[in-house]
Amino acid sequence: MLPFKLVYHERYDLNLGPHVFPSQKFRLIAEQLLREGIAVAGDFVRPSPAGDDDLLRVHTPEWVNKLKTGTLTAGDVMKLEVPYSPELVEAVWLAAGGTILAAQCALRDGFGANLSGGFHHAYPGHGEGFCAIHDVAVAIRRLQADGAIQKAMVVDTDVHHGNGTAAIFGKDSSVFTISIHQENDYPAHKPPSTIDLNMMDRADDDEYLATLIPTVQQALDEFCPEMVFYVGGADPYCEDQLGGLSLTKKGLMERDRRVFEEARRRDIPVANTLAGGYARNVEDTVRIHVNTILAARDVALAFPSASAATNR
Ligand SMILES: [Zn+2]
Repeated sequence: MLPFKLVYHERYDLNLGPHVFPSQKFRLIAEQLLREGIAVAGDFVRPSPAGDDDLLRVHTPEWVNKLKTGTLTAGDVMKLEVPYSPELVEAVWLAAGGTILAAQCALRDGFGANLSGGFHHAYPGHGEGFCAIHDVAVAIRRLQADGAIQKAMVVDTDVHHGNGTAAIFGKDSSVFTISIHQENDYPAHKPPSTIDLNMMDRADDDEYLATLIPTVQQALDEFCPEMVFYVGGADPYCEDQLGGLSLTKKGLMERDRRVFEEARRRDIPVANTLAGGYARNVEDTVRIHVNTILAARDVALAFPSASAATNR
């Protein structure tokens, strides 16, 4: 049994069929966690879809309405780069509800993991790069509206720049955004995060960790967020089809472990989301995401959370 909850719903699948985004990965991750005995059925909690009022704290009424009514233009679909379907809409509403629930679990347990989410390319008024609804922004705004937190930090380690996150929070001093990504990759337009760490092509484990970890340490000490939202992309992996960095599976797990450790040492809860992963073999993408959960478990057991203990 895990010392935190896994948020999962069988309708997370984006219904993409043959597509570079392996939308079956959500189910495969949940199955592998059970099969390997890392998690038991009681570790899983099911999200409800986010409410429209939750989405509207981030997105425009026009965009939410287009998604609900299936009235996206050809241009909208081209930018989104995934086919529209009612299942896609259901999945992204659930993903946003899942990240809200993972954050609420994190407040109680010190860590909470949505086995979806991290759709960091979504903008208020349009979707981009497989991302229709910005679940992380929706969750941050919901927790702020509930008075549960005031200040949040997004640590985005997906290989692609978190352009939607940067656009949404660019003028908001209550949310600190860090994006570490391959500079020479999608998206072409990268609005500034609070801190952008631009990695050169083929950067390896050592270069990556030496760039990321001191930045996270300093940002946590200076900004003192009440929650970290971790966007743990699997696509900095050396075998990724849409990424050009050279991280190993071991390096990626080390990345997760060290970010979680830095938050945990300061007793800051972490809400985890998956983001991208396009390895040639989907098993590699699944392994990397499963390793994120293992890293969280190791850190939770090594550094018991003071707030998690007092809140129980
Ligand atoms: Zn990505």
